[in-house]
Amino acid sequence: HAGTDANAPVAADPGTRDAADVARGDEPYYLPAGGEVALFEQCHARQLAVMIKGPTGCGKTRFVEYMAWRLRRPLVTISCHDELSASDLVGRFLLGPDGTVWQDGPLTRAARQGALCYLDEVVEARQDTVVVLHPLSDHRRILPIDKTGETVVAAPGFQLVVSYNPGYQRMLKDLKPSTRQRFVALDFTFPPPERESAIVEREGGVAHSQARALVALAQRLRGLHDRGLAEVPSTRLLVAAARLIASGIAPQQACHAAIVAPLSDEPVLLAAMRDLVDASFV
Ligand code: ADP
Repeated sequence: HAGTDANAPVAADPGTRDAADVARGDEPYYLPAGGEVALFEQCHARQLAVMIKGPTGCGKTRFVEYMAWRLRRPLVTISCHDELSASDLVGRFLLGPDGTVWQDGPLTRAARQGALCYLDEVVEARQDTVVVLHPLSDHRRILPIDKTGETVVAAPGFQLVVSYNPGYQRMLKDLKPSTRQRFVALDFTFPPPERESAIVEREGGVAHSQARALVALAQRLRGLHDRGLAEVPSTRLLVAAARLIASGIAPQQACHAAIVAPLSDEPVLLAAMRDLVDASFV
């Protein structure tokens, strides 16, 4: 039989916030870079799926949280990994006291609710999992559920949003063209220095001058990319360092712990980064 059983046990799902929660919640702090808010709103209004491209920790997730709040839509977040199966997205039969009951997965729930469905790091998912998104991401906006025979038609507010870090494991993993071309792509990069300082000041709880010093350091560290540093310090790492500084840790120690050590295990690169930190906070 098709459809959901109203009496089915509902597993606790910390990944979902419904529309009421979103509307009640405080506005997530998001400092826009340019026209991305208006562009996303138009994509939402025209029911276009969105792909957000950019390095880790540059504000992709925060942006989606902010847009869900702004559009008053529930947000369903799914972190992709290489064992994520189609059933994990769509749903499965569970064994209950009265036999088996169908339980919607997060993607199905998002389609029924008209939620924003955010798949974080979508390249991590297997190809046979990603293809499940295809009929939802074009004009059909449907999700056929093979196991029940039901075809879910996505509710009007439903929107697929995926994020993707183009620099990461570029050689090993990529999205197929047939998948990529279903999305409008928004390019994210690290914010320009004044904006990034404002974010670090606000999110990290440090003085403006401290925030600026951290951002200046980050820019020097990002220059090490050409010398082999694969992942450069993100806004997220700067915020973490700022929080440590705000709680009384000496700036040098905070930067070593929150910025330098997480980025590399390579002795030469670590030494180069430590030198830059020491030169920044004397
Ligand atoms: P991503 O999803 O790209 O990995 P996040 O959205 O989690 O990154 O951003 C990491 C952190 O950086 C956020 O928790 C927030 O503190 C900060 N941040 C980055 N960009 C912005 C922005 N434009 N506005 C507000 N906070 C931001």
